[in-house]
Amino acid sequence: MSRTWRRGKEIVPLLFVLVCGSALPAQEEAFRVGPLAVRPGEIVSGMIEVPAAADPGTQIPVTIVRGERPGPILALVAGNHGYEYAPILALQRLRAHLNPKGLRGTLILVHVANMPSFFGRTIYYSPVDRKNLNRVYPGRRDGTLSERIAYVITTEVIERCDVLVDLHCGDGNESLRPYVYMPVTGDPRLDAAVREMALVFGIEYIVVDRDRPRDPAASVYCSTTAITRGKPAITVESGYLGTTDPESVERILRGVLSLMRHLQMLDGAPERVAHPVFLDPTRVVTSPATGILYPKVERGQFVRAGTLLATITDFFGRTIAEVRAPLEGIVLYIVATPPISQGEPVAFLGAVKPSS
Ligand SMILES: [Zn+2]
Repeated sequence: MSRTWRRGKEIVPLLFVLVCGSALPAQEEAFRVGPLAVRPGEIVSGMIEVPAAADPGTQIPVTIVRGERPGPILALVAGNHGYEYAPILALQRLRAHLNPKGLRGTLILVHVANMPSFFGRTIYYSPVDRKNLNRVYPGRRDGTLSERIAYVITTEVIERCDVLVDLHCGDGNESLRPYVYMPVTGDPRLDAAVREMALVFGIEYIVVDRDRPRDPAASVYCSTTAITRGKPAITVESGYLGTTDPESVERILRGVLSLMRHLQMLDGAPERVAHPVFLDPTRVVTSPATGILYPKVERGQFVRAGTLLATITDFFGRTIAEVRAPLEGIVLYIVATPPISQGEPVAFLGAVKPSS
């Protein structure tokens, strides 16, 4: 498995730098991420190294777009899960679209956070250390590969930014309807900023997320690493089942541009969701058995408590378990490929909050 991603590493150029825009006074201080330094009016792309330790190292492709005028630093992270392609393609499109002229502030684009998982084509887990990158933040400098990637992203990206969006979609096994996770912390200033971010992203289904960690030293998730450091952040889900459909990619691009208008990085008015659907509570439904999964509902479907979500058979086709909805609500995702192990997610359901 490691050979696959080492081959991937070889085909990626070590460092390339593209600079555009006019020359600026030498005294303008450069903004730095890893080995990249960018002055106002420039776009710089290159690799941040994750050094080898007990296991081999990797690289993280990053672009910094620095506007000619000052403003907030917005970090967009794609590919924490390497089989989630719509966000990765959306950042390719965004990079081609952006012009530092007229831009206020700075964008940090993490194009593929988890290169081992991307080239290894693995869902959830790294092929190197079998860890889920989006469960090991803020990472460890001397940890296994996933922990070292998280450490580099925490120190080089999250600690440098003011606002963060972690971009996901349904993983290779998940048939997912678009939604946004809106963390709720109890800090009114932070919660108001996060709520506005969620609304201007333009996806009407918003998960009210009350259960994220509060400890910055054990933040677990990428977005929570920003939140626990006092920085507004949301997690966006758009796309499903390893596809690269234009609609899922376009939705992310549109959301990012709308958020940039909201943050006054770009001129114009954001596209705020007119009729948000807040989902609260939500529930991940896990599998009681190991075997072959047959989904019985579609993404986005409304289900009542007790509705059959999936059946699980043994390898000879005999039904060994049924999975039913524990609450009435929307199917935000349903696992739609056959392999299932006991304790793994089968579905994610959200109850529509009446007061929304
Ligand atoms: Zn993901």
